[in-house]
Amino acid sequence: MSRTTSESPVRDTIPDADVVIVGAGFGGLYAHYRLRQLGLTLKGFEAAAGVGGTWWWNAYPGARCDVESLDYCYSFSEELLAEWEWSERFATQPEILRYANHVADRFDLRRDILFDTRITACNFDDDTDRWTVETDTGKRVSACFIVAASGCLSAPILPDIPRIESFAGPVHYTSAWPHEGVELSGKRVGFIGTGSSGIQAIPIVAEQAGHLTVFQRTPNFSLPAKNGPVPEPKRALIGPDYPAYARSNKHTPAGYHVAMPEELPDIWTPGRSALDATPEEREAIWNALWESGGTGFTGSYIDLTINPESNRLVSEFVHSKIREIVDDPETADRLCPTDHPFASKRLCLDTDYFATFNRANVSLVDIKATPIERITADSVEAGGVSHPIDILVLATGFDAVSGSMLKINPKGRGGHPLADKWGDRFDTYLGMMIAGYPNLFMIHGPGAPGVLFTMPLGGERHTAWIANCIRHLDETGLGAIEPTEEAEAAWDREITSMAERTLYMRTNSWYTGANVPGKPRQFLAHLQGSKYFDRINAIADEGFVDGFVSEERRSVDASV
Ligand code: FAD
Ligand code: NAP
Repeated sequence: MSRTTSESPVRDTIPDADVVIVGAGFGGLYAHYRLRQLGLTLKGFEAAAGVGGTWWWNAYPGARCDVESLDYCYSFSEELLAEWEWSERFATQPEILRYANHVADRFDLRRDILFDTRITACNFDDDTDRWTVETDTGKRVSACFIVAASGCLSAPILPDIPRIESFAGPVHYTSAWPHEGVELSGKRVGFIGTGSSGIQAIPIVAEQAGHLTVFQRTPNFSLPAKNGPVPEPKRALIGPDYPAYARSNKHTPAGYHVAMPEELPDIWTPGRSALDATPEEREAIWNALWESGGTGFTGSYIDLTINPESNRLVSEFVHSKIREIVDDPETADRLCPTDHPFASKRLCLDTDYFATFNRANVSLVDIKATPIERITADSVEAGGVSHPIDILVLATGFDAVSGSMLKINPKGRGGHPLADKWGDRFDTYLGMMIAGYPNLFMIHGPGAPGVLFTMPLGGERHTAWIANCIRHLDETGLGAIEPTEEAEAAWDREITSMAERTLYMRTNSWYTGANVPGKPRQFLAHLQGSKYFDRINAIADEGFVDGFVSEERRSVDASV
């Protein structure tokens, strides 16, 4: 059925589906694989032109994963684990995108997905217990269930920089980098943003540009990736049975095993406080871990993110490394983070980031000390100094975790918009469902572990839970399920009380929502990794009773 009115575009109604899946990143792709196995009819929508999500959009130079590739991948298929060879310890964006495409092809996951199509509205009908979904291309579809795999780092922030619209040259976001690349050679590049994206891109941009000026508001902690072939300790840890290793990742706190370097001094034992070690022991252990690269460094002592004194010691160690690498002492000082505890923001992993500031064609401007006054057609003016630029690159981050859902702004029972419900707090139950929004499931929603548990694996586990829930509804003749507000409030208290025992809450970051002006301050991740997943599975095993209300089926016709 189609109709045209003077106000609205042609509405192209497509056949009803059991499930609408938002997004075709790692989360959405696996949802297609798993829910299809239940015999459900699916309709997927993806705003990008292809699969890959994060790895489709963030095609900036230097983009890589920060969890080792042998862990940052799917675990659901032994054949897939056996046939895919990662070429490096931390794969590049192009390689991860090739992997996502390989998975989509191998398991025929594209057939139900409409690409270049953004969902703009989702409305729940109280009478039929169905959702109606609308898109920016005028498509309309009705479904019993929505699986929102819309991404926790997929809604870029457009920063409020004075007179940015005056700039006459190209402005490129790392979060929407052109796939054909950007010609930087010989150009004067201005770069704003020194989080993980900036720290990965800056060394490569510096190699290509004529001159690079980095406008830094806040310096960040970064550890050397020491990328290269997969290190021997990791190969030894994995052993001959990679599928068994990959399955065992789900029992670890962060979704992966850390292989400690062979040369780690004999004095190291797991589970100690940094304060129980002598200064010489700490120095030896931190040096060994720094040299072996990766985030294994954070496993050196158990209290780095909870004990302020341990944190101070490790922060000083990292500062000493920055000072060792960076030739100019003033530049080194500016690059040392002092406004937040070590690892209270997502730790960055870099390749030659700090050394980049020794290059003759790179300058660092501290825009906290000398804020940007304005952008002109061909310069950035800060602290009364004009910095000429031809190209502006923005690595200014995301409205994280809640942003992509709020862009859709689903209307639940009674037409209630999510933006109203989430005006003060991002209430969810289990980080997956929302009271008043029946049969709407989120993958990596607010209150789930998110980036604190390797996300492809976390997405698999969320999807397994969703599949079980839909099967449960089918088997018990139930039509709609949603959490209670009491369960949401208890979940919020639990997450907040865990976060308050850490140093995360002391830091302005996207973890706490502080990077978006006006966003409610709330820690958005569950801190218990594998225990979180055990917990949600226990609720499933007990029949989705704890914290949920369900109602008899009305028009729900999902046959599993
Ligand atoms: P995404 O990959 O973000 O995919 C969501 C998709 O939904 C997007 O393609 C988007 O276009 C689509 N979408 C959103 N809204 C709509 C809509 N309304 N209509 C249609 N489509 C929509 N995590 C790690 O664990 N390790 C890492 O090393 C790591 N590196 C990262 C590097 C970068 C540069 C970034 C930005 C994030 C990184 N992350 C990392 C987090 C990363 O987002 C996840 O690991 C993972 O890729 C998330 O998959 P996803 O499918 O849940 O979401
Ligand atoms: P981010 O960590 O939020 O960093 C954004 C940067 O932009 C910060 O330096 C911020 O400064 C700056 N900024 C924002 N608005 C600004 C403004 N108006 N003026 C000047 N500076 C401004 O974002 P990100 O680097 O994209 O990373 C987000 C997350 O994605 C990471 O934490 C990580 O989880 C994931 N990621 C991972 C990798 C990886 O290594 N695999 C790579 C990229 C991203 P302030 O700090 O002062 O606000």
